[in-house]
Amino acid sequence: MDGGSARRISSFIGGKALPAEGELFEDINPATGEVVALVQAASAAQVDAAVQAARAALRGPWGKMTVDQRAKAMHAIADGIEARSEEFLRAEILDTGKPVSMASHLDIPRGAANFRAFAEVLKHTPGEAFPFVAPDGRDALNYSLRGPRGVIAVICPWNLPLLLMTWKVGPALACGNTVVVKPSEETPATAALLAEVIRDAGIPEGVYNVVQGGGPNAAGQWLTEHPGVDGITFTGETRTGEAIMCAAAKGVRPVSFELGGKNAGVIFADADMEAALEQAARAVFMNGGQVCLQTERLYVQRPVFEEFVAGLKAKAEALVPGNPFDKGTTFGPLIPSDHPAKVLGYYQKAAAGGAEVVTGGGRLEMPGALAGGNWVQPTIWTGLSDDSPVVREEIFGPCVHIAPFDEEEEVMSRANDTPYGLASMLWTQDVSRAHRVAAQLEAGITWVNSWFVRDLRTAFGGMKASGIGREGGVHGLEFYTETRNICVKL
Ligand code: NAD
Repeated sequence: MDGGSARRISSFIGGKALPAEGELFEDINPATGEVVALVQAASAAQVDAAVQAARAALRGPWGKMTVDQRAKAMHAIADGIEARSEEFLRAEILDTGKPVSMASHLDIPRGAANFRAFAEVLKHTPGEAFPFVAPDGRDALNYSLRGPRGVIAVICPWNLPLLLMTWKVGPALACGNTVVVKPSEETPATAALLAEVIRDAGIPEGVYNVVQGGGPNAAGQWLTEHPGVDGITFTGETRTGEAIMCAAAKGVRPVSFELGGKNAGVIFADADMEAALEQAARAVFMNGGQVCLQTERLYVQRPVFEEFVAGLKAKAEALVPGNPFDKGTTFGPLIPSDHPAKVLGYYQKAAAGGAEVVTGGGRLEMPGALAGGNWVQPTIWTGLSDDSPVVREEIFGPCVHIAPFDEEEEVMSRANDTPYGLASMLWTQDVSRAHRVAAQLEAGITWVNSWFVRDLRTAFGGMKASGIGREGGVHGLEFYTETRNICVKL
């Protein structure tokens, strides 16, 4: 097993890594249960120092850069990630246990792409200016100026650590803000590596800061409650979003939230079955089911129900769990050490609730060094009612419930009957139906005959309890910039 000996990871404030001393916590490899690093937990005073460093940097050379200069800086950061991609890959795999086949194609390249994409968005975003005649007959010019919002707190989850962090840090920095990042305590490594890349790219000190540690009564809470923070962007659970929103209320600070989901996939009888099965298997099992956009509820039209269930069962059973560094591995562990208990709890509830367990349903016993990891079986159920907790609550594991449906109207109301509204997936070869259904599904993003493909310039975010605001392309500017209105009488 390519485990690596325990190293030290620390916070990064004002251009310098803090000594890895004081309170330390363990960073665990979820594939094996081994400790891969000891992480320095930021104190309240260190969180305060990070916010002060970020504020000071706004007043320094960073605050005076032109858009073109910042865009160049964003590309330099992307170059730095690419130059050290093997280190990022190794760090991400040790923190998450995700297969190298996925991380090398998705997580690390997207880390760099997020900086490039927002550099280009900013360079090409037009401003607005309206010449008009004032009531006294004189000409006037009214225009808007966009400036950075200020110090942005970036609070990240553990499922796609580098990808989701850079999805926020990229636009924040491209817009001229400074950031204090709080990575998940489960996955601290790539935020620390990014600090080195940003320093080496010549970005002024204090522009990018990292505070390591937990959420409640720790770095996360201290950061979101800090009055020196001008806006909070957060990806994680809806309940955590509620707590952060309370913190943001003090000082009336804006938030941008990407939260939980219970995403539905709808398969009509006329779907291209092979393609639908291929993508549904990704949508359910990729990253061990730990992707916010994954599908945990599938509705399949009755004539193809049996065929679809059998097809997805075959895909689930063909997954290859194993050492994440092996190229042939296609299935990884759950990430936090306490996550198997939650997911297995739902596996038990499903069985107790009368589900038919099509495949899986328990712990996955792994050999050798992997025996201590957080492994659970890819699982498919049928036979539960729509009001079962397994069908209503976000599980965030490699599992799905499949139910039959008859009519279009019926399936839309069942798919929409959830407090969440993050993503949905729809398979049909009827173009009119595709547009009709997609427009009525209550989700921030709907994939038609596809899953997990998106142009980074489009809006991303959730409806209902799945989020507040949209990030991506120019849509993130609402949060990452402040617009000032200037009116000049000529
Ligand atoms: P989480 O909410 O438990 O934690 C996310 C981050 O918030 C962590 O860094 C944590 O330390 C911090 N945190 C926790 N409590 C806090 C508090 N009181 N104040 C400040 N910070 C606090 O989420 P998670 O378990 O890391 O991630 C899984 C969840 O994230 C799932 O619900 C998933 O759907 C969601 N998610 C959503 C998206 C999206 O784009 N909508 C993407 C990925 C994950």
